[in-house]
Amino acid sequence: MQIDINLDKNSYKVYIDELSTLKFKGKVAVITNSKVGGLYLAEVLSLIEADEKYTITIPDGEEYKNLATIENILEQLFVSRLDRSNTIIALGGGVVSDMSGFVASIYERGIDFITIPTTLLAQVDASVGGKTGVNNKFGKNLIGSFYQPRAVYCESRFLKTLPRREFAAGIAEAIKMAIMFDEKFFEFFERCDVQNSDDLTKIIQRCVELKAMVVGQDEREKGLRAVLNYGHTFAHVIENELNYKGLLHGEAVAIGINMANRLAVNLGLLSVNEADRIEDLLTKFNLPTKYKIKDENAFYESFSLDKKSENSVIKFILPDGIGKNIIKSDIKKEQVIEVLRLFK
Ligand code: NAD
Repeated sequence: MQIDINLDKNSYKVYIDELSTLKFKGKVAVITNSKVGGLYLAEVLSLIEADEKYTITIPDGEEYKNLATIENILEQLFVSRLDRSNTIIALGGGVVSDMSGFVASIYERGIDFITIPTTLLAQVDASVGGKTGVNNKFGKNLIGSFYQPRAVYCESRFLKTLPRREFAAGIAEAIKMAIMFDEKFFEFFERCDVQNSDDLTKIIQRCVELKAMVVGQDEREKGLRAVLNYGHTFAHVIENELNYKGLLHGEAVAIGINMANRLAVNLGLLSVNEADRIEDLLTKFNLPTKYKIKDENAFYESFSLDKKSENSVIKFILPDGIGKNIIKSDIKKEQVIEVLRLFK
């Protein structure tokens, strides 16, 4: 199955469960990490036909998503003498694809790259849409570029080795897409069995279609693309409070979705029944929905540190019923505090 990402001259296809021989003229460098490389590198290398193949293995973990690792990758590309007519292939989760994309965007001012995402989160979200980058001491993903891949290959079978919590973290982002854009997809989630490979492929497919729709309309996040940050305004504060330890990003997003929903209920945008249905669905996938806020005022003040809040206007992305979204910039502090008090 193939899904088109329509971006004029930067258009490309996402192939789902169609990975086969990949032919290139010239050199190819596969960037992966120690864990994914051990699982899938040999197979992927055997599918690549190129004049010369190189492998760059980076350490596994978000803590290595930084400029030092980028330097290291660039160094290896120069040593291997790749030039602008060659190709980089990212094999791994969102960390590998974000960094490989960034390297591709700056290596000799831009070299082609392809991604083979191996986590659910990367398949349904990170690998599509061209956001690349790294973290620094000021925050996550603050250094980066918009740079589209030439193709994306999502193989659902690669998800079989994914740890259970990592899988669920990807499901949280997929459920986010359903709540924001597609009520029928949400209902599908309520009855599907993710152990069933057809159901899993359907989830990947629908998420990629929805992401294609969003990115096709708003590649640079000037409007609609911000909707993908639903749940994230709250999640970023939680992650920050926890020093990025203990919860996976997708787990923090699940809590953030529940918080946003309770705000939407208080504003009359979502019924209690709908908010409960969403919470039940997240719980069905073993995702957390509860969090103990120690100080709701401090929590509120942290919203303004989020890079998504422009000129200190706090934008809340909320469901307007299941399957529709609304961006609100005029919610009073007291209304938000009232909701935060529910999470004590
Ligand atoms: P990750 O890349 O760290 O992968 C999670 C863990 O799973 C790692 O330990 C990894 O080695 C392991 N892993 C990967 N594939 C595996 C497999 N098939 N089997 C077993 N283990 C496997 O994390 P992630 O959740 O994929 O991505 C998170 C990153 O993505 C964050 O840095 C986030 O900022 C970024 N992101 C980017 C975008 C975007 O639009 N560019 C969107 C969402 C998230």
